[in-house]
Amino acid sequence: MHSYKNIPQNKMARKNIAAGNWKMNTSIEEGVALAQVVANAQRDKETVTILAVPFTHIYPLQKKIKSSSKVFLAAQNCHHKNSGAYTGEISPSMLATMKVPYVVLGHSERREYNHEDNALLALKLRAALDAGLKVIFCCGEALEIRKANSHISHVKTQLSESLFQISAQEMKNIIVAYEPIWAIGTGETASPAQAQEMHAAIRAMLQKQYGKRVADNTSILYGGSVKGSNAKEIFSQPDVDGGLVGGASLNATEFVEIINAF
Ligand code: PEP
Repeated sequence: MHSYKNIPQNKMARKNIAAGNWKMNTSIEEGVALAQVVANAQRDKETVTILAVPFTHIYPLQKKIKSSSKVFLAAQNCHHKNSGAYTGEISPSMLATMKVPYVVLGHSERREYNHEDNALLALKLRAALDAGLKVIFCCGEALEIRKANSHISHVKTQLSESLFQISAQEMKNIIVAYEPIWAIGTGETASPAQAQEMHAAIRAMLQKQYGKRVADNTSILYGGSVKGSNAKEIFSQPDVDGGLVGGASLNATEFVEIINAF
């Protein structure tokens, strides 16, 4: 059971979240097996577990995972329109019809390989929220930006040009994920102090934009080479409310360790 001892008062307002991002990995059979191990494992019931899976896996996983296991599915992307001549795309309303609760938007891989910019992400956020989806909104800087000490202003621009287009009321459907690009899939993690510095800065930005209540209630996840061995230290930072986990979420034992690291 979760112990609230030593947790700052304002952290209690927020959910602890462990979200796995499978990216373009696993066959359907492998994915079903992985999700079943996660769903059936002994887990801290206070922690929200989310699996961001390939579109093809959503329906088979919904059939196999019991809703009582409290493992929620996320899509890894969606289009900014609900229908039309957009070959190969999946719309927010299609996900909503399938009762997929979450969608990840703004992952750095989509920003880089699919040229998704802040303006497009603002449209996607709008469309996803209008369809009734909850959004895991990713932000984070590249190595050159960190070296130039511009990481905080970079993330501020990402938030103000995309996320801050939505209302305070809608923020209850947002999870922010801070993912320094230099730590994604590299094995290099931000230090707990680096993560805390940025998370506190993001929370201050949320407070300035939406007020203290929204800032205190919004979960901010860290992403970038989170593993079973480093999750506890990172998650114990006062403004870190969990993780968005790539590589390590493909290993059920490791991911369950991360879920139980709060
Ligand atoms: C990610 O894809 O969001 C991520 C953080 O990947 P990894 O954990 O592998 O660095």
